[in-house]
Parts: sequence; C-alpha cells; structure tokens
Amino acid sequence: MRPANIVILGGGFGGLAAANELRGSLTQDSRIMIVDKKDWFMMDLVKLWMIAGSREFESSKRPLEAVTKKGIEFINENVTRIDLQNKIVRTSYRRLHYDYLIIALGVELAPELIPGLRENSLVLYDINDVPKIRDAIRKMKSGRLAIAITGLPYKCPPAPYEAALIIRSVLEETGSGSSVEMDLYSPTPITLPAGGPQVSEQILQILNSKGINFHGSCKTVAVDPGKLKFESGEAAFDMLITVPPHKVPLVAVDCGLAEPGRFIEVDRTCRTKFEGVYAIGDVNQIMVTDKIAVPKAGIFAEGEGVAVARNIASRIKKEAEGAIFDGKGGCYLETGKGAAGYIRVDMYADPVPITEILPPTADYLAEKEKFEKERLERWL
Ligand SMILES: Cc1cc2nc3c(=O)[nH]c(=O)nc-3n(C[C@H](O)[C@H](O)[C@H](O)COP(=O)(O)OP(=O)(O)OC[C@H]3O[C@@H](n4cnc5c(N)ncnc54)[C@H](O)[C@@H]3O)c2cc1C
Repeated sequence: MRPANIVILGGGFGGLAAANELRGSLTQDSRIMIVDKKDWFMMDLVKLWMIAGSREFESSKRPLEAVTKKGIEFINENVTRIDLQNKIVRTSYRRLHYDYLIIALGVELAPELIPGLRENSLVLYDINDVPKIRDAIRKMKSGRLAIAITGLPYKCPPAPYEAALIIRSVLEETGSGSSVEMDLYSPTPITLPAGGPQVSEQILQILNSKGINFHGSCKTVAVDPGKLKFESGEAAFDMLITVPPHKVPLVAVDCGLAEPGRFIEVDRTCRTKFEGVYAIGDVNQIMVTDKIAVPKAGIFAEGEGVAVARNIASRIKKEAEGAIFDGKGGCYLETGKGAAGYIRVDMYADPVPITEILPPTADYLAEKEKFEKERLERWL
C-alpha cells in the first residue's frame, strides 16, 4: 500500500467527518490534512440555541487543532488557489501537493447581493449577528418582526422556521408574545418544497398555531429602512432578520470546478471530473430528480464525507470501492418550549424521495443535543 497525501479543504461538518473516517481506515504513513481559515468548529445549529439564550459561542466552539491528537494535520490558513492540473493547493503561506483532494468549503454568505440587506437587517446565519438577534428580540416590546429568506438554495431549509418558533417562544417568555406580530417571507410558494406539499402544510400549521404568518412567493429584491421590497409588492417591518443569499466559495469558481453562480455539480459519488478530486457538503449540488437536489445540511455533508473517505481508503488499499452516499438522514425542527419534531428524509427512496415530519416531543430535543455531543466527541 503506497502512502498518500489527502488534503481536505474545510474543517466543517463534511471535512471533519471525512478526515476521521480516513484516519480510522489508513495507516499513519498516509497524510491527512485539513485546511481551514477558521481555527474553530461549532455546529451551525448552536446559533439557534444562542438565540434561545441557552448557549454561548465561547463555550460552544471547539479548537480544530484538536484533530492533531488523532494524527490528522491541521493547517489554519486561507485556501487561495486550487491547481487541478498540477494537483497543488495554495494557501496564504504554502503549497500542498495532494493525491486525493476533498473540497468541503461550504457556502459563503452573500448579503451584498441584495441592496440594503446588510444595512437594514440582522443576518440569522452570521455568527456576529446572532448575539445581536438574541438581545434585540428580548428588548422588543411590540411591532412587526419579519424574517425573510432571500436566496435559494440556503443551508438547512427548516432552520428559518425553527428560528421563528424559538423567537416566538422567547417573546412569550418576555411578555411580548401578543404584542409582536411575526411574518415570515420566502421566495418559495410553500414552506419546504423539497419535502413536498404535505410536509410544507404541516410546517405551515405549526407556524400558524404560534401566530407566525407565512408569506410564500416573496422574492426579495431590495431592503429599505423599515421596508422589504419584493419582485411584486412590499412589506413593512420594525425588526428584520434575514437568511442571505449563498454563493459558492470563489476558489471553486476560479479553478473551474464550479460555474459562476452555481455550486459544484456532482452525482452521489461526489467525484468531480478531475481524477482524485471530490466535492462534498454544501459546496456541491447533487440533483436527485430533475427538480429536487440534496438539501444543504450537515447530516448530508457528513454522509457524503464518510462515503468519499471509504472509497479513497479502498483505492489506496487497492480494494474495490463500494461506498455510496445513501441520502438518508434527518434533522430536528425545534418548536420552542423544550420540544422538537423530527424531519426524516430518504432522498433515494424508490420511486420518489421521502420526507416526513414526526411530531414535536421533548425526546427529540434531547436527541438533537446528543447529535451534537456525539459528533464533537468523535471528531475533535
Ligand atoms: C442556523 C442553522 C441551523 C442548522 N441546523 C442544522 C441541523 O440541525 N442539522 C443539520 O444537519 N444541518 C444543519 N444546518 C446546516 C449545516 O450547518 C451545514 O449544512 C453544514 O455545516 C455543511 O457542512 P460543510 O462541511 O459542507 O460546510 P461547513 O460546515 O460550512 O464548513 C466549511 C468550512 O470551510 C472553511 N472555508 C471556507 N472557505 C475557505 C477558504 N477559502 N480557506 C480555508 N477554509 C475555508 C470554513 O471556514 C468552514 O469551516 C444548519 C445551518 C444553520 C445556518
């Protein structure tokens, strides 16, 4: 077995899952390197717990350096160029040669794509804005609180609904529940198109039961102070929380792996057209049917990372590649007041993808906490 250099770009959900799977299957002479511009990892779902007030950033993040105790190298640098012809990745300070490359760079938030969005809203997915959202909702006594999804696709399709339900629960605790009107605007006609009309209707009913008004087919084109502007019509707000448009990291476009404005298109093997180069997680787009893509979610980034890692390990050991991303997973939909539902997904169910919601219970919230804890223990 020839030792190999495996470079993983991004130490997020997918990168950490892939690196740990590889380390468990290969001898120490194969080098496994994670490159990330951040030196910490925290699951995005913790942002919602920060808004709920049950978690803090400082005590929730973990140092990525911790992977080194397992024999995974960590390089805390910005990836500036991917040279696919010469199999070299350039960072701010060095050149890394690879035999296998796993691109797990996630998405970049792009609030600048909508005029006025940055200046007039708090960005739900931005770690710097999350504490501001936590404080602002506690100060809000009355008025209109709007949440707007302003681009497609976006990470974790149910997350804006969870955020709305958690915020509603906080407002009820602070006594402002009945004096704050909540509106949720989405460019999609129904709440969760990938889950189908039935699941979307169930989410709508949960939102309505908490007095949150859902407005579909609202494509945001600009934000003015106090006013959301849609392709057709506008809406007033006193406080605005947004899910901004997402874009593929520039290095993936510059090297030719992604078309401008699109993610890296792969099938469920996550192989790109370049030998030994794979794209996993949010940075990719895997179409399941002509209309439905694998949603951008950590659980799928993890599944893709594990499958790719197993196949790379098989190739290095000269064994047959048998792993496949199975498209199975799910996520917990927090509904506030200590409960969560479970959205179960099977993207490759025959004949069509299946999504179903299991009703909220305290047990599912406990499972969500376990979901985070188990992975942190396993990966870092
Ligand atoms: C509020 C919220 C709640 C969510 N809840 C859930 C949930 O309950 N369940 C679930 O499954 N998913 C959830 N998600 C989605 C999940 O967080 C993402 O889908 C997941 O993180 C994707 O993993 P990834 O590895 O593709 O990318 P990421 O985890 O985003 O990792 C990408 C990494 O690449 C690094 N990087 C990017 N560019 C560069 C560069 N040029 N140089 C060096 N490093 C770079 C970044 O620093 C980052 O660490 C949620 C998301 C949000 C926003």
